[in-house]
Amino acid sequence: MEKVIISVKNLVKRYGDFTAVNGISFDVNEGEIFGLLGPNGAGKSTTLEIIETLRDKTSGEVIVDGINLDQHPNAIKKIIGVQLQTSGYYPGLKLIELLNLFSGLYNQPVDAMKLLDTVNLRDKANAKYKELSGGQKQRFSIATTLINQPKIIFLDEPTTGLDPQARRNLWDLIIDIRKKGTTVIITTHYMDEAEILCDRVAIIDSGKIISLASPDRLIDDLVATGFERPKEVKKANLEDVFIYLTGKEWRDE
Ligand code: ADP
Ligand code: MG
Repeated sequence: MEKVIISVKNLVKRYGDFTAVNGISFDVNEGEIFGLLGPNGAGKSTTLEIIETLRDKTSGEVIVDGINLDQHPNAIKKIIGVQLQTSGYYPGLKLIELLNLFSGLYNQPVDAMKLLDTVNLRDKANAKYKELSGGQKQRFSIATTLINQPKIIFLDEPTTGLDPQARRNLWDLIIDIRKKGTTVIITTHYMDEAEILCDRVAIIDSGKIISLASPDRLIDDLVATGFERPKEVKKANLEDVFIYLTGKEWRDE
């Protein structure tokens, strides 16, 4: 039996008379990679930020690892890892300095080099944040979510804007983090990514969950309706060409 680590019931968020999140309910199981998918403005970030205790809800119930959000938001903060907005970094500090700074802020001792190893950035320990590539910046921001050894990390569009290798690089990292037992909640607009990474996905539209299951199940259900994809005549696509030519095991410099 799976253990539920996040339980959301009838969550509602209104901004004035606009309802951004319209009574959604879902559970996330411990150790899974759970995807929130949906068009821009669907309510994904709002939902995540409420669970992360960063935004007030209008109504509904959120329980994280047995802790009720209404009663002990600070206890929830201690067991989760949230990606900071990149603008929140001091661009002129070295990575190692930034990690030590955050470690002090969180009052959480950290082995900064080991953490940089986890995200494959040991070589960049003495580089400044602003000198990193897009993929490296994302990996670093994931490292910051791991400082407090969280049970759950939240990744809101971590691969948006990355090149194909950097995206694959990040998939490997996310899979590694999950292997160590951390639950991952992720949003993405890339369906190939959701299919590869996510154990289950919730599809949100206009503040409501319109479907929730494993990617495999959702695809099978669609096929069962008689849906058929236009036949692909070629055995590869342009992304395959790109990765074949430039891949070098998800190089990232
Ligand atoms: P998503 O992350 O799925 O793209 P968001 O959760 O960011 O969507 O936003 C959901 C809806 O709520 C959008 O229509 C957005 O414009 C609106 N919204 C988000 N934040 C605010 C806010 N602070 N005030 C008013 N409306 C907001
Ligand atoms: Mg968003």
